[in-house]
Amino acid sequence: MKLIIHGGFFSESSTNHETKVAKQNALERIVKESYAFLKTHTAVETVVYAVSLLEDDALFNAGIGSQIQGDGKIRMSAALMDGETQKMSGVINIEEVKNPIQVAEVLMQEEDRVLGGSGATNYARQHGFEKFSTEIPQRRSEYEAKLESAGLGTVGCVALDNNGKLAAATSTGGKGFEIPGRISDSATVAGNYANSICGVSLTGVGEDIVSNATAAKIVTRVTDGFPLKDAFAKTFDELLPYDGFAGAIAIDCDGNVFHQDSHPSMVFASFDGKHLEVFS
Ligand code: ASP
Repeated sequence: MKLIIHGGFFSESSTNHETKVAKQNALERIVKESYAFLKTHTAVETVVYAVSLLEDDALFNAGIGSQIQGDGKIRMSAALMDGETQKMSGVINIEEVKNPIQVAEVLMQEEDRVLGGSGATNYARQHGFEKFSTEIPQRRSEYEAKLESAGLGTVGCVALDNNGKLAAATSTGGKGFEIPGRISDSATVAGNYANSICGVSLTGVGEDIVSNATAAKIVTRVTDGFPLKDAFAKTFDELLPYDGFAGAIAIDCDGNVFHQDSHPSMVFASFDGKHLEVFS
């Protein structure tokens, strides 16, 4: 069993030491709690569990603490991918739900598995997700001051369960100040992808991640025989011509765990029951 989570990017220039320590502590707590859950649950159930905990923590830009868009509203996106069935489900630009990843989980049973905008929000209401404001005062002041927020903080998780099954989940509040209607990479196969060989979750600038088809490329390369490290190296090299800004976490079916980022640094934690690694 293996588990890796990320909490987006850490910006040295706009985040203080206390926030860094708080993120380290939050990631350590969540990776350990989620690992305990993985012992008795599938990879799919566990990635939803881990991402829900990350969405509930206002330190990260997903669920509670999501960034505010150009028109003053919060719209969130999340995706779930089951590596065994190779089915993906997701919500794009959903409003006022506490845990977008849980709406994606319910959608996994549907024939129409990716919903956007008011369709996603209406579907959530019809399936018992109450109206919930994920806005926190810090994001409102950042928005009002038209400040860049304290670093991007999308969240994600990849898990390998007891039965060797992989799953990936990613959730985001977007990049902040975007034009309403912008589509994040998080609920696309560029930002979140898995099959029976490899699972990947991304953070970074959605436009760069989509342009590079990053998660799908890494998974395909590993499936075709590349070691994780080489699949990451080649895929990240392909971001260089346009200075692409991305970070990714992954696990393969042999239990290899990997992470890499471009120029900024991604906050992450991994745990396998013995070894804990937390970004420093
Ligand atoms: N990938 C997200 C987006 O572009 C942002 C992030 O990772 O923080 O919407």
